[in-house]
Amino acid sequence: MKIPRQAEAAPSRADEQAAAAADVIPIQNSGPSDSRFDMVILGDGYTASEMGLLRQQAQSKWDELSTTAPWDKYRQNINVWLVNVVSNQSGVDNDPTEGVSRDTALDMGFFCGGLERLLCLSEPKAQAYAAQAPGVDAIVAVGHTSKYGGAGYPSLATVSGGNEHSGRIAIHELGHSVGGLADEYFTPDTTYPGGEPGEPNVTTDPSGSKWASYLGQSTPDGGTIGAYEGGSQYERGIYRPSQDSLMRSLDKPFNLIGLAAMDQAIGSKISGVAPGTSEQAPR
Ligand SMILES: [Zn+2]
Repeated sequence: MKIPRQAEAAPSRADEQAAAAADVIPIQNSGPSDSRFDMVILGDGYTASEMGLLRQQAQSKWDELSTTAPWDKYRQNINVWLVNVVSNQSGVDNDPTEGVSRDTALDMGFFCGGLERLLCLSEPKAQAYAAQAPGVDAIVAVGHTSKYGGAGYPSLATVSGGNEHSGRIAIHELGHSVGGLADEYFTPDTTYPGGEPGEPNVTTDPSGSKWASYLGQSTPDGGTIGAYEGGSQYERGIYRPSQDSLMRSLDKPFNLIGLAAMDQAIGSKISGVAPGTSEQAPR
């Protein structure tokens, strides 16, 4: 689920001071941040005594992400930083039911906009904590919860720390925040109301000319690239490149269009190495 860009309030001075005091732990350090992709993992709803659990859940998200295409191709050239965000209380808001409130560092909670599985947070606070890492190219905020959910903001992805689907959800949500991809699922009986969307994987053109060079090619999620009606959460008036990619179903891979967008976004931050190696490229 994708969350549109919002007007941002600056973090308060108290929030900035709390963020500045947070420890940053390298889960993986592959090289200097100006020539590597920097993934920053935050936690919310973990108290000071739960930092070990945060570390374990952050590592498990990275393990799953780093074995999924196209992240796997770049895994040795990505820095992964864990920011130990300490919350006053354990857990997140509206978990397991609406109305439950907890005092946490990033204000994370379910039932965002009334939607149970949508896990929102304070984007300015998350950015203040992420800025403690040596570099920031993507942010994953892990919530201390086992409830199913997540969200893709323009600058970050949220995910449940303890849900069995959470690794796949993180990969989907990073499709939004890193690849700039749209959802490819839809709600029945809805019609897309707008003009040509900016995302690379949806179009109002039923011929699929937006991804013309891929039409007819077989795609890792099954079938061939074409123009399939339904996407961006609308059933009609908008088309997606394949029947059932990761931007529609969590257990599927990205389609060719999603792969290309992710590949470009990740690869453009990495220089001085050939993909898949950690050696210096020859000058
Ligand atoms: Zn989504």
